[in-house]
Amino acid sequence: MTTVLKAACHCGKNTFNIKLTTASLPIVNDLCHCSSCRHSTGQLTVNYIRFDGVPLTPTSADSDQPADLSNLTAYNATGVATRWFCSTCSAHLFFEVIGDKYWCVAVGSLEKAEGIVKNEYHIYVADTIDGGIADQIRTVDGFELPRYIGPLEEGKVVPLGWRNDGVINAKRDLETLAFHCRCKAISFTVTRPSAASALPYSAYPDLLLPAHSTDASKVKNPDDEKWWLRPLGAEKPTKYLAGHCACTHCRLTSGFEIQSWAFIPRANVLVSSESGASPTILNLKDEGQRPKGLVQYKGSPGIREFCGTCGATAFWWSEEKQDLLDVSVGLVDETQNGLRAEGWLEWHKERIGQQEEAVNKALVSAVAEGLKALV
Ligand SMILES: [Zn+2]
Ligand SMILES: [Zn+2]
Ligand SMILES: [Zn+2]
Ligand SMILES: [Zn+2]
Repeated sequence: MTTVLKAACHCGKNTFNIKLTTASLPIVNDLCHCSSCRHSTGQLTVNYIRFDGVPLTPTSADSDQPADLSNLTAYNATGVATRWFCSTCSAHLFFEVIGDKYWCVAVGSLEKAEGIVKNEYHIYVADTIDGGIADQIRTVDGFELPRYIGPLEEGKVVPLGWRNDGVINAKRDLETLAFHCRCKAISFTVTRPSAASALPYSAYPDLLLPAHSTDASKVKNPDDEKWWLRPLGAEKPTKYLAGHCACTHCRLTSGFEIQSWAFIPRANVLVSSESGASPTILNLKDEGQRPKGLVQYKGSPGIREFCGTCGATAFWWSEEKQDLLDVSVGLVDETQNGLRAEGWLEWHKERIGQQEEAVNKALVSAVAEGLKALV
């Protein structure tokens, strides 16, 4: 028997059927933390499952017609596998393994996760340098996830709280925190909070004040609190707030269940137009000054910015909030301060933004519980 599922992106240009052997469900699967996955998506971890055959047109459940992939961009950095993402909204849909000829689908793009996928182990945790989000995803559905440093076959694990201090210590004191996508078309640096960091105004994100249960006037931040600067209320803040989002928009524009953002004033995000040029403040509005290779998706709500070559999510912003950016933490140069960059970012542990919208509830609850265990 075959189970047919729909996979789709946010903008609606891509909808596919994929087939799974019903007897194989739920598929026991990894969460991958490798540098290649993180930097080509902007996520802290990615989640793909293998399916039968190739992507199919969604005309009918029993259609066996291979799908038209012309609205997807292919990115193949290694010759081993091709990543396919939506050219319009950046959602990663497929991971095609060339040699063994099989296809995997990004789980966040699926209409359903329950009964389909069971995340039972972490792989390539060593690439994160500090354990990354694997430290926050400890137990899924009562099952404790082992943390493999490389592929499953190697069988070597690291304990919770593992860090590669040798790597971190070498670059710990750099004055800026670097970010880059897999193909390096998009790279930028972040500076420490300055006087300019307190100038933007922003309503509270759902991460801090859940919109569904908070009075709307309070969400608007009437006291103009600079909630993104940390420690909160410090005279001289040194860090930025970071947190995870499980909203439908993030899920369907990335293809994955958990999008991790750092809230950083635009004044603190610097780019160099060419190597050797002195860096300038990131400008996303003026066509002539936007980083080359950055593609915009204006899908409500707000504007998502991603690398047109490798598909990595870089920023989210909106007209109302153009001087405070959501920066995709998966692009952080993990060799500097570890992937969680805790010398720069203060992670919100009490809540995941819009966690009620999660489709893969088991995974998102696992992150929420793992975060609370750190409080
Ligand atoms: Zn799309
Ligand atoms: Zn990977
Ligand atoms: Zn790129
Ligand atoms: Zn979101």
